[in-house]
Order: sequence, then structure tokens, then C-alpha cells
Amino acid sequence: MSVSDVVAQLRTLGIRDGDVLLVHISFRAVRPIERGPDGLIEALCRAAAPLGTVVMPSWTGEDDRPFDPRRTPTPPDLGIVASTFWQMPGVLRSGHPFAFAARGPKAEEILADDLVLPPHQPASPVGRVLDLDGRILLLGVDHDANTTLHLAELMAGVPYGVPKHITALRDGMPTRLDYRENDHCCDLFRLADGWMAGRGLQTEGLVGRAPSKLMRSRDLVEEALAQLKRDPLIFLHSSDAGCEDCAMARTSIAA
Ligand SMILES: [Zn+2]
Repeated sequence: MSVSDVVAQLRTLGIRDGDVLLVHISFRAVRPIERGPDGLIEALCRAAAPLGTVVMPSWTGEDDRPFDPRRTPTPPDLGIVASTFWQMPGVLRSGHPFAFAARGPKAEEILADDLVLPPHQPASPVGRVLDLDGRILLLGVDHDANTTLHLAELMAGVPYGVPKHITALRDGMPTRLDYRENDHCCDLFRLADGWMAGRGLQTEGLVGRAPSKLMRSRDLVEEALAQLKRDPLIFLHSSDAGCEDCAMARTSIAA
């Protein structure tokens, strides 16, 4: 599929010039595309150009070494497109381990916040995309990859938080920073698909070969906040489900 074909698909899905677009991608689901990951990135930027801003996760999976935005790679689970994006000319990347990368007029504003722990708070890239009334694009991935739901959890004040750490430079010295994060297996983030589709709040279509979904960050957060108000543990598997991550999150509530 040519880059122009993909631009046309993205426009059919509803992407417009000026969009702030937070994108989560499985390239395996999207391909084949002319010029591979570079071609897909070009299509995303062209669909939102010239006034739009494209944003992608760009964090490290590394807990024990300080982050260098010019060198530290993204982990394999973020995929080849995220790995390609931050290394391209004109793309900015946050200066801390929960980095995002962005290209476009709003890039600096979206990436300006310092390290916050736990990550994905209002003063973080996902929070800035929400502030800017940006949209979330899931390309060949489901809502279990939708990081903005972690923001909704923090805004809702969910009671769980599992121990994590990261290593950051403090006065030039690598320093271990311990924190609690609202983390779990994230499988049940998929519930958001029914909420959003049921209320007509996401558009769906193909990008390349991948079933894809587009939604406003505000609609997603609003919907998740309403559900979390009803049941603060809605994203955790039940205690007897055999999910170790969710069991840890449940145990953390008493701690
Ligand atoms: Zn689970």
C-alpha cells in the first residue's frame, strides 16, 4: 500500500489537519506499507499536517540505568514504529524515562513536563494531549495499549499501587527512585472498547491492513472516570482469575 493510500485511509477515519494525535501502533498488523515504518510515520504526519502534532510512547523499559533521550532505546513491546520515530529528524523526545516523542507545532508543550511519579499524570504527555483536546489513534492495537487509561485511573484516585523504581540522575549521580504505580496486566482496559463503541465515541476503520480506532482523549477519560466512580477496581481481574499482576494490585490496596 502506498503512503498516499494510507493518508487517504487516515482521513477517512477522521484525522484532520491540526489534530494532536497520540498514536499506539502494532506495525505487524498494519503492514505492508511503502517504505515500512518510515512510510507509516510520513502518512501520519501528512494526515495531520501542517498544523497537527503526532505523539508516540517513547519510554524505556530499563529501571536500573539513567535515561538518555538521545541514546536510550525503546523496549521491543513498543514496536518498530515507536523505535523509528524518536530517531527521526525534527522529532522531539522527553528528557526522562517515561518519555514520549512528538513532531509538530505542539511537540514542545506536550513534552515539557519533568519526570512525575507515578507517570501518566495530568502533568505528563498523556495529560497534555488531554488538555489540548487531542485524539487517540489505536492502529492494530486494542485499548489494552491505551496509556491514557492510566491517566484516568490517577484522576479517579484508584486505591491500588504496586512498588516500582526507576534510576535517574540527581546532581549528576545515578539515583534510585522508588514509587507506587497504578499498574496491573491492563487486559481489562479492553472494556473501554465496548463503552466507547456503545456510545458512538470512537470511529473505526482500516489503516493499512489493521483494524483501527480513533477517539477524543476527553471522551475516553470522561467515560473511564464514570466507570471507575461506579467501580474503582473495574480494570483489575477478580482475585480468583489467576492473574498475578492484578492480584498484586489488589494486595497493594491493604498495604
Ligand atoms: Zn489482570
